[in-house]
Amino acid sequence: MSNNVDLSSVLKSVEKPGRYIGGEYNRIMKDKAAVKCRFAFCFPDTYEIGMSNLGVRILYDVLNKDREVWCERVYAPWVDMVEKMEEYSLPLCAVESGDPVADFDMVAFSLQYEMCYTTALRMIKLAGFPLRACERDEDAPIFIGGGPCAYNPEPVAEFFDLINIGEGEEVLLEICKLYVFMKENGSYTKSAFLREASHIEGVYIPSLYDVSYNDDGTIKAYEPKYPDVPTKIRKRIVADLDNAPYPEKLVMPYIETVHDRIVLEVYRGCIRGCRFCQAGMVYRPIREKSPEKLCHLAKCLYDNTGYEEISLISLSISDYSKLPELTEGLLSWTDDAKVSLSLPSLRIDSFSEELMQRISSVRTGGLTFAPEAGTQRLRDVINKNVTEEDLMRAVGIAFRGGKSNVKLYFMDGLPTETLEDIEGIASLSKKVVDAYFAIPKPERPKGGVGVTISVSCFVPKPFTPFQWEKQDTFEELLLKQEHLKKCITDRRIRYTYHDAKVSFVEAVLARGDRRLSSAIEILVNDGVMLDAWDENFDYEKWMSAFERAGIDPAFYTSRGFGLDEVLPWDIIDCGVTKEFLLRERSKAYEEKTTPACSEHCSGCGASKLGGKNRWCK
Ligand code: SF4
Repeated sequence: MSNNVDLSSVLKSVEKPGRYIGGEYNRIMKDKAAVKCRFAFCFPDTYEIGMSNLGVRILYDVLNKDREVWCERVYAPWVDMVEKMEEYSLPLCAVESGDPVADFDMVAFSLQYEMCYTTALRMIKLAGFPLRACERDEDAPIFIGGGPCAYNPEPVAEFFDLINIGEGEEVLLEICKLYVFMKENGSYTKSAFLREASHIEGVYIPSLYDVSYNDDGTIKAYEPKYPDVPTKIRKRIVADLDNAPYPEKLVMPYIETVHDRIVLEVYRGCIRGCRFCQAGMVYRPIREKSPEKLCHLAKCLYDNTGYEEISLISLSISDYSKLPELTEGLLSWTDDAKVSLSLPSLRIDSFSEELMQRISSVRTGGLTFAPEAGTQRLRDVINKNVTEEDLMRAVGIAFRGGKSNVKLYFMDGLPTETLEDIEGIASLSKKVVDAYFAIPKPERPKGGVGVTISVSCFVPKPFTPFQWEKQDTFEELLLKQEHLKKCITDRRIRYTYHDAKVSFVEAVLARGDRRLSSAIEILVNDGVMLDAWDENFDYEKWMSAFERAGIDPAFYTSRGFGLDEVLPWDIIDCGVTKEFLLRERSKAYEEKTTPACSEHCSGCGASKLGGKNRWCK
């Protein structure tokens, strides 16, 4: 920070100054005069959340392993700090060097969730730049977007120079190398660089495409402006995950963050095919790390951090084909070192007595399962592939193993859902309570049972078999939430549900096209940011911005998209084909399930990306 302001008095006047001071143990410092590309990795949420993000940890490590690149971290300032920055004209700065973001060559944003868009853009503004890429001058850094939301980048396409589609480990380095090469040989201009970068697989340059629309407002076509620019952008993956770089040290924060623990990414992708789940489709194909590599990484990270918890992360940890070997290897030293092991993503059907024993040996607390729907019919529609018996067996094991609190995740508003399915959520939860009392009293955990059900609103996401579906209206969702509330009569069941207004805005942004940029711009210019936080989310402001931008948000939510319509995200090839998604959609309406990849390959198309495993045909 600069401007002759007494920074210590600014820091003393804001909440959690530890968010801004840097200087953490294990942070990476380099000589800025000796590096050729300065890379600001921006996380559009608070320090506490960003510091816990696995993607940031991995990419920070990958980029800094290259001696020509210095990657630094930038987090969103909290609202109190934003006020101070505006009051004293302080620019947004990187944590490591304290240098303004304007001094960097590349400024990349990890777009984790649609509701972070306003924050990312406000950060661009706080860095001192116009929001729209076309309004930034030649000397401005290259602004990059990436992360899970990049699978439909269109609502924010006008704001970024370059979008990274897929996994960033290799692509971001290639982008930096191209930048350095063109700078050194004198061929660099921003437009020449972006044109050249469009040839890198996994790179989307929105400004190199024209989008046209039909009279009814649907998209007519995406057309590259030049013949050498690809007509579709294929996502990048890391083919050999076991040998891919992974941090052996972590930056240690001075303040508490949301996950102060070691996170081990066990595999990427998913062998299941839940029809509502975007992650399960876009991260295909599955690529596993070996137990040996994971045990080695866990030990290095423990030695370098001293964290007392190791969390095994993947979309469904119990689907890892070598879980017994991995837990065996870890437990051989973690028990003695008093390091706990957590497995946050357990599937109901693969939860076993043995797994329970392994977890119980190190950890107490509740267990979480995700039946997602209240009836078998609807679970078949969404291809959840778990039964009521699976759930009762899993909670029985949990209760007998000493757990008295179980959390169940459900969704409402799913395609074909009726009030009977909603009532099924209440009756299934009651059966879980009953399963506790079916255990003889001496064998039950003491203190009584607690079942928490958390119900989120279905958002039809791009690249899922439900991408064409409409979302329930706000009124329909409220009605279902109220109905479920009435159906829950047991006080041992705690019911929590998501704000349907947030889910509505999330759906608009997830399914939107480039025209939404005007509304997002209005919000950011009005000072909106951090509205992924309930206390900052203002539904009326969103509706007003849509109105001022001439956008009907219901066009993106209450209308089912036509099966032959050009979708905003059709410019992206995420591996899984439209034919596969259409097949899965038909099966959903026939209430037919599709087996997991481990049982049968359904030919989803993701095998063309490489990274083959023993299942992909
Ligand atoms: S190609 Fe087959 S096995 Fe591989 S991810 Fe797709 S459906 Fe699964």
